[in-house]
Amino acid sequence: MKYPQVHSRQASKANVAVALFPELGLSAYSNDDLFHQDALLDATRSAVARLVKASATLTPVLVVGAPLMFEAKLFNCAVVIYRGRVLGLVPKTYLPNYREYYEKRQFAANRDAVAREVRFLGEQVPFGNDLVFEAGNFEGFRLHAEICEDVWTPIPPSTYAALAGATVLVNLSASNITIGKAEYRRNLCASQSGKCIAAYLYSCAGPGESTTDLAWDGHALIYENADLLVESERFADREQMITADIDLDRLMHARMLARIAKLPRRAGFACPDCKQPPILGPIWRCDHCLKPFDTFATQAGCPHCGAQFAVARCPECGGAHPLNEWTVYGPGPVSPTR
Ligand SMILES: [Zn+2]
Ligand SMILES: [Zn+2]
Repeated sequence: MKYPQVHSRQASKANVAVALFPELGLSAYSNDDLFHQDALLDATRSAVARLVKASATLTPVLVVGAPLMFEAKLFNCAVVIYRGRVLGLVPKTYLPNYREYYEKRQFAANRDAVAREVRFLGEQVPFGNDLVFEAGNFEGFRLHAEICEDVWTPIPPSTYAALAGATVLVNLSASNITIGKAEYRRNLCASQSGKCIAAYLYSCAGPGESTTDLAWDGHALIYENADLLVESERFADREQMITADIDLDRLMHARMLARIAKLPRRAGFACPDCKQPPILGPIWRCDHCLKPFDTFATQAGCPHCGAQFAVARCPECGGAHPLNEWTVYGPGPVSPTR
């Protein structure tokens, strides 16, 4: 169980901000009923403790997979570690129990957890599938973790996390290989990152995973708003680390534009530059009294202090034009209100 420390140090040297490992990576995924053995569970706990200690001098947030017992139930967990502390524990939400999977035999799901906080390695630690880890020193960095099957569902937990502001969504997977699965994974991660306007990081078990009747390809993917940034080599005979720069500003900006696109528009006007009809409502701010007003409803005059403005500035492209240049004849295009 030395490899997570080695790779965490390697990630730290590469100035990585988040280092994601596969599902149940500290114990291996293919343990079947060995998950019920104290020897395995005690050794896993010790391995987490050693990694937490080692993380004190490392820069990345580490997200590792481990089977952990709370409330006399065993959970398939993501452990989120940062600089000598466990920030939170995320239990798997959806346990697959079809075809080659028997996870309900060994594990309890997130919904079976009663407490929102558990005692772990001598500390009280947040526990649940809805935890979002926000960086206090880096604007826009908000991390959420889910586990394998969680994203193969109609509404993954990461969807709710993204709605709550998470920008970096990570998935710890084992994900044995079957025909056509690699392309399906790419589509799934592209779609989830695009729908959530987020980064989506996916890490599968590789050649270090033990085999029973399953095979592993070590597939890892990093997407940003539906764009593939980097992909691991599949079926490599060695361990791999892939890295990519996530543009958080791009994600935040894309979310802002998506929000603006859904706002109701005023008929009869359009920006002379970008042709967008103006947003309906008090989104302009008076230069004098700083109060908000709708410049198209007041003929470019502030209703609070009476200041008059020569131009109206387009909130989308920044173009500034007198109101009469914005006027279009007929009803003009109006986007649906949602
Ligand atoms: Zn414009
Ligand atoms: Zn004013």
